[in-house]
Amino acid sequence: MDIEQAKKAVGKELRVYGGISEKVNRYIGKFYQRQIKNERILAKVKGNYGEYTVSLKLGERRVDFNCSCYIGKHGCHHCVALAHTFLKDSESFELINEVGRSGIKNLEQLGKYLDYVTLGELMDELKSVGISQKEFAEAVGTSSQHLSSVKASEARNRFFKGLGAIKLACLWMIENAKKIKKSDKKSKKTK
Ligand SMILES: [Zn+2]
Repeated sequence: MDIEQAKKAVGKELRVYGGISEKVNRYIGKFYQRQIKNERILAKVKGNYGEYTVSLKLGERRVDFNCSCYIGKHGCHHCVALAHTFLKDSESFELINEVGRSGIKNLEQLGKYLDYVTLGELMDELKSVGISQKEFAEAVGTSSQHLSSVKASEARNRFFKGLGAIKLACLWMIENAKKIKKSDKKSKKTK
């Protein structure tokens, strides 16, 4: 990610929100675990009801504000505060380099990869190799609806407990898609 471009995009998005309210001001600069990861500006903050994970996702046209607090689905005062924090002090954010899965050699790297990649990205890849979300869900004993809500939760920085395991299952399917599809066709023919 180009930091200057990110700043421009975040600044542009902030214009909609007008001036800095007292509610926002309380949180500016209070963020920790500041990271730039996978096109996201990400940090945590202590709110009224515990710790929130707040993110600004840089898209092609706009920046998506998301927070794990109860109002943060499409942005909240925590997101606006994070945006101001990033504009003021972008250097305090740690840049997490892309973790590729070809380089995974141990469990620590596997953990890092599973943390880096989103379930949404993996499901898109799975689809591109010919396996639908529904087929995947059936194979692992869950429903497509459940997977959709797990994906949506992750986008909101709410992490489902078995998220890593689902990602890993998805990964196995991606890597073995060709084999699976071939034998599926065969078994259908012989039926
Ligand atoms: Zn929030």
